[in-house]
Amino acid sequence: MITKELMNAKPLSGKERLGAFRNSEYMGAEDFEPDSSPVLTIKALYNAKITLARGKEQHDVIVFEEETVPGCINQVRPLVVNATNRKTLRKLFKGVTAEQLVGKKIQLYLQHNVRDPSSGDMVDGIRIRQTAPSSKAEAPIICSDCGKPVKAFGQFSADVISKNAVKKYGVSLCVECGQKRKEMEQAAKNEQVEQTEQNETTQNESEE
Ligand SMILES: [Zn+2]
Repeated sequence: MITKELMNAKPLSGKERLGAFRNSEYMGAEDFEPDSSPVLTIKALYNAKITLARGKEQHDVIVFEEETVPGCINQVRPLVVNATNRKTLRKLFKGVTAEQLVGKKIQLYLQHNVRDPSSGDMVDGIRIRQTAPSSKAEAPIICSDCGKPVKAFGQFSADVISKNAVKKYGVSLCVECGQKRKEMEQAAKNEQVEQTEQNETTQNESEE
């Protein structure tokens, strides 16, 4: 069945998803498209009494220049800054004054299974990446094994993942292909060990 109210509403279609149209005025985990890591420019800082689901509270808030980030966030709302993210900002920019932060770019991601201090529930927390996005972040880094763009993973930016692969294998690799190379390397090593063992056995036999 369908209710009267729903009859007058339009069902979601195509790529529209649950959670994307929520009514909160501040940024929440549900605003993020799956596995997205939006890069945003800090426009202004506030410390103000704001209305959250649990009532009015005094908070630090960041407002961004971007209104939308295609593929990452449909509507960019102000971010309420918690202690973890304040610490990351301090580390990234050597301070958290308006002078030091306004105009800077940061990259956000979701950390899964963090404890919400007010409810005790396990939720997705919005985090700031520990590495500042490079200004050439628009040009994707291509994985030399599969040819797809290298994606950020957890707290690691695409840039860090690529640099680590270059250090280890001499080429840029995505997380998946890096893992495959590692497994191949391990398999090759195991084979070598087996072969050495075999050689030793043959030697021992010929000595007898
Ligand atoms: Zn790859």
